[in-house]
Amino acid sequence: MSGPRAALCSVGDELLAGKHPDLNAPFLARELLALGVPVVEVAVVGDDEEAIATAVQRLATRAELVFVTGGLGPTLDDVTRHAVARAAGRELVEDPDALAQVSAWYRAHDRAMPASNARQALVPRGATVLPNPVGTAPGFQVPVGGAAVRVLPGPPSELRAMWEQGIGAGVRAELPQAEARVEQRFHLQGLSESQFSDDAGAWLERGANPLVGVTVARGLLTARLVARGADESEAARVLEPVALAFRERFAPWIFSEECPTPEEALVTELAARGLEVACAESCTGGLVAGALTAVPGSSAVLAESFVTYSNAAKRARLSVADELLEAHGAVSEEVAGAMAEGVVRATGADLGLATSGIAGPGGGTSEKPVGLVCFGVRFAGRTWTGSRTWPGRAGRTAVRDWATAHALVLGLKALQGRLPAPPGA
Ligand code: ATP
Ligand code: MG
Repeated sequence: MSGPRAALCSVGDELLAGKHPDLNAPFLARELLALGVPVVEVAVVGDDEEAIATAVQRLATRAELVFVTGGLGPTLDDVTRHAVARAAGRELVEDPDALAQVSAWYRAHDRAMPASNARQALVPRGATVLPNPVGTAPGFQVPVGGAAVRVLPGPPSELRAMWEQGIGAGVRAELPQAEARVEQRFHLQGLSESQFSDDAGAWLERGANPLVGVTVARGLLTARLVARGADESEAARVLEPVALAFRERFAPWIFSEECPTPEEALVTELAARGLEVACAESCTGGLVAGALTAVPGSSAVLAESFVTYSNAAKRARLSVADELLEAHGAVSEEVAGAMAEGVVRATGADLGLATSGIAGPGGGTSEKPVGLVCFGVRFAGRTWTGSRTWPGRAGRTAVRDWATAHALVLGLKALQGRLPAPPGA
């Protein structure tokens, strides 16, 4: 059985100018591959009617499924709908369903619809309108040659929402004798993509079943295991042993199977236990608290946090002893531990998280290089300390982001009893 192939076209002058990375084609490529549909070409073109029409016509000769994203907005420089109508050899007409969707969006947002937005209801004659649950512009689907061309909005969040709320299922339903698929996700922190590839070995092979795909963002890794089978129970049988082995092999790095970020995982775990966290941050400067407060529901688990950047602040807010600061320096496991203890004392929180490090680019020494971050965790009457050295050349932002994720994961592991007992405990 050879299924359909896909080709993708990302539209936007800003993509060609290098102002934004193209997020839509990689997203669609991953999703399509997970459905067993390989992507044979990705084109990037500017907001130019002729260029888009030419690209769409060419892609339609290369693949049975073509996806075009971007340039569906209300302004005159958004020309994708005109270009695709031209490629399809159909005239543009105002579609009543599309117009209803655009005006419904304005009504739901209590705003009057600007006249220019009626442009978003234009589709090639005979096209199928694809609803957009989160933005104004619906997409549409129209045949070009033998290919089904789907035209979708450019903002990545809208594209994703449309994929997840219908387009993906629609594509899947059209695949020849759609196989059953069962998937399992694992979210990992603390290992690099190359280390992961080495350890995952044959699991990552292209034809493997389950197929293991991996995405990386902010130093976090998400592995998706997709098993195929004649029906759901067969796919589940294929998935199970590999998921078990995966869970075992990567146990030290898996922070969640449900929550894609450590902050969500920590907030969820704290809420489930009715506990509170407080942070004492030096090199992360509030990023740990910031990450926590970005999670809906964090007010139930975070009452307050300190950014104690100077030694004076560490003494005044957290009662870190002078002798400790003098003997070990602010960037030390001893001080990080004392910060975690201090923030629990000062706030009455159940869990204290502390960071102190050298984010760079300056300030490193041979003993304490740029990229060194010390952590303190206080929980259930115990203090745990540790440190990590990230490659300082990755830059200040990366070091601070990694340290933030690491601190959150340490907090999670403390709650779950997954941190080694501190000496003398
Ligand atoms: P809108 O109605 O918002 O104008 P649109 O369908 O016309 O939607 P564009 O104007 O092409 O889409 O893009 C809107 C915004 O979406 C761009 O400013 C850009 O930030 C983002 N965007 C579009 N295409 C991509 C892409 N391929 N990758 C990443 N971001 C994109
Ligand atoms: Mg636009």
